[in-house]
Amino acid sequence: MPYNELRKDYLLDRWVVIATERSRRPTDFAKQKKEQAQASVCPMCPGNEHMTPPAVLAYLKQNGAIKKAKDENGFRHKNWLIRCVPNLFPAFAPPKDPADQTNIMKSESFGCAIGHHEVLVESPNHDDDPADAEVPQLLHVINGYIDRLRELSAKPYVKYVSIFRNHGAEAGASLSHAHSQIIVTPFVPTIVDKELAASKTFWNQHEKCVFCDIIEKESKSPRLVHDNSRFVVFAPYASVHPMEFWILPKKHAANILSLNQNEKKAFAETLKASLKGLKDLVNDPPYNYGFHLSINRNAENYYHWHLEVYPRLSIWAGFEKSTGIYINTVTPETAAAELKKALSL
Ligand SMILES: [Zn+2]
Ligand SMILES: [Zn+2]
Ligand SMILES: [Zn+2]
Repeated sequence: MPYNELRKDYLLDRWVVIATERSRRPTDFAKQKKEQAQASVCPMCPGNEHMTPPAVLAYLKQNGAIKKAKDENGFRHKNWLIRCVPNLFPAFAPPKDPADQTNIMKSESFGCAIGHHEVLVESPNHDDDPADAEVPQLLHVINGYIDRLRELSAKPYVKYVSIFRNHGAEAGASLSHAHSQIIVTPFVPTIVDKELAASKTFWNQHEKCVFCDIIEKESKSPRLVHDNSRFVVFAPYASVHPMEFWILPKKHAANILSLNQNEKKAFAETLKASLKGLKDLVNDPPYNYGFHLSINRNAENYYHWHLEVYPRLSIWAGFEKSTGIYINTVTPETAAAELKKALSL
C-alpha cells in the first residue's frame, strides 16, 4: 500500500497530508441542503435600507447609467444595484479621534482594533448567488470591491484590506442575502505577510515573481481546472480543503486596482463559472473565498494578487486544531479533474 503524501504549500510553512488511500470522490460530499433559517425581515433587502447604517457606497441605476452615491445621515438611497454599509457590530472600528490613527499598537502584545468592517450587499435579490448571477451584476460587485479598496487603502492607518465572502450558514454567513465583507486591519495579517516575505525572497533569488512561476507550472499540471486568456484556475498542490481552488490573473499585479474593463469582465466570468462548477458538483456546498493582495508599493514587483476558494466539506478536529497540519481526503488532482468536467465554459 502506498503511503499518504506529505505536501508543503508553495510559500507557507504549512503541511498537508493528502490521503491518497482513503481518497474520496467530490460527489461523496454532496448532501441534502439544510434550510437556512430565514430572518423574518432581511436588513439587506430593498425597502429595509433604514435597518442598516448609511451606505458608504451605492451603485444606482440612473437613465441607463450607473451613478455612485453615498447615503447621508437620515437618508437612504433606493433602487440600488449594490450597496456597501458599515457592519453594525464591527470587528475593527474607525478611529474616533485623529490621534487614534497613529497610536494603534500600545505595546508588543496589545493594540486597538482600529480599521473598518463593511458589508457589501451583492444584489437587490435576496437569493442571488455568484454561481448563477448575471455577469453584469457580478461586475458591479467586482467594481464595488475595487472602489472600496481604493478608498480604504488610502487611509494612513490601513495596512491591509481583506475582501472575502462566506457562503452558507456552515461557512459563517449569518444572513442568507448575497453579500461579501470587507475588513480593514492596521497590520498585515500573518498568512499574507508570510506569502509576501516568501515571494520577496524568491524575487531576490530569481528576479521573478513566484506566482507567475506557479501559473506557468500549474497550467501544465494535472491540477489545472481552467485556463483562459486572462485567468488561470487550479487546485493548489498542497490544498488544505477538499475541492479547494485558486484563481490567478495572468497579468502580474499586486492588487485589483489596475484591472481594466476586459480583465474585470473576464474575472467575473471566471469566478462565476468556477463557483457554478463547484455548486453543480457538490450540491451547493458552503464555502469561503478571500482575496490575497498587497497595497504596499514596495511589493508591486514580487507579489501577485489571487483569490483563494475554500469549500467547507470537512471538519477540522483535534489533530488539525492542535498541530496546524491538515488532512485532505480529496487529492488536488482529483478535485481539478472533477471541477474541470463540471465547468461549463
Ligand atoms: Zn434579503
Ligand atoms: Zn506575478
Ligand atoms: Zn494566497
